[in-house]
Amino acid sequence: MKSVIAADLGGTKCRVALVTEDQRVVAAQRINTSRDRAVFLPALDAAFAAALLARPDGVEAPSAVGVGTAGVITADGLTIERAPNLPLDQFAMVRHLRETLGLPAALMNDGRACAMGEYAVGDARGADPLLCLFFGTGIGIGLIVGGRPHAGADNAAGEIGHTIFVPGGRTCPCGGLGHFEAYCGGRAIQERLRDALGPSPDASMWSLANALATGRGEARVVVEDAVMAAAVCTANACTLFNPRAVVLGGGVVEAWPELAARIEAFVRAQCSPAITRKLRFCDSKAGSDAILLGAAAAARDVGLRA
Ligand SMILES: [Zn+2]
Repeated sequence: MKSVIAADLGGTKCRVALVTEDQRVVAAQRINTSRDRAVFLPALDAAFAAALLARPDGVEAPSAVGVGTAGVITADGLTIERAPNLPLDQFAMVRHLRETLGLPAALMNDGRACAMGEYAVGDARGADPLLCLFFGTGIGIGLIVGGRPHAGADNAAGEIGHTIFVPGGRTCPCGGLGHFEAYCGGRAIQERLRDALGPSPDASMWSLANALATGRGEARVVVEDAVMAAAVCTANACTLFNPRAVVLGGGVVEAWPELAARIEAFVRAQCSPAITRKLRFCDSKAGSDAILLGAAAAARDVGLRA
C-alpha cells in the first residue's frame, strides 16, 4: 500500500503520521507545541524522520510529505509567513522538508487541509460549497468551492477568526483588537477563565468551561461571550458564502458539544431562509484526523507533479 507523510501543526499539539492511499492514518506521533523554535524544530524534525523510517505491515515507504499548519502561508505556497500560535514565522517549510527528508513537499493552511479531509471522507463528503470552521487554539476556516480549497488571490483567504467582533476590544494573539479569536479561540477562553477564576487545579479547561456554564457569574460571562462570538462568526460566514454544508470541529467543539448545537440554532434563527433552507450541519467525522487527511491529499498532488 502506497503512503505519504502528513503533518498537522497546531498551536497546542502537532501530529505527524503516515497516511495510506485508502485514507488510513498509521504510525501517528504527537508532540507538544513549544513557542521556542530552538526547542520545537528539533522535536518536529525527529517526528518527520521517524515517519520516514516507519514501516508498518504492508505499507510502502512514503513518496511525498504534506503539512497542514496554523497561520498564513506565502502566496507561492512555500513558506509559513505568520503563525501566531507557532514559532515558525517566515520559515521556509517546503525547502526544509525537501532538504531533510528528500521528498517532494506541500504546505497548506490547516483550515483548508481540514476542509479537504472533510470533503473527501467526512459526513459532508461532496457538499459544495463546503464551509469548515475549526475552533481550536485559534480559529481555522476552510472553504471548498468546485472541489478545491478557496485560497484567495494571495493564498491568504479565510482568516475569519481575525475579523472584528468587538471594535477596540480584547487583544488577539495576532496583535489586532477585538477579533473573534480573542473571544472564542481556545487560548483566549482559557486566558479569560484564568483571569476570572484564578489558576484551576482542573487540567481540562473544557470540562471547566462546561461546568461553569451554569456556575459562577464571571466564568459564565466568558462562556457566553465565547458562544456568541462563535455563533456570530459562523452566521456571518454562512451569509457570505451560502454553503451547502457546515462542518464544525476543533478541540473546543469536541470537548464542548453544546457549542455546536448553539451555533446551529443561532444560524437557523438569524440567517435568511435562502441560506438555511437546504443547509446541513455536520459533525467533524474525520475529527482530529481531518487535517492529516487533507495534508495527505496535498502531498499526493505534489508527489504526482514531482
Ligand atoms: Zn487576530
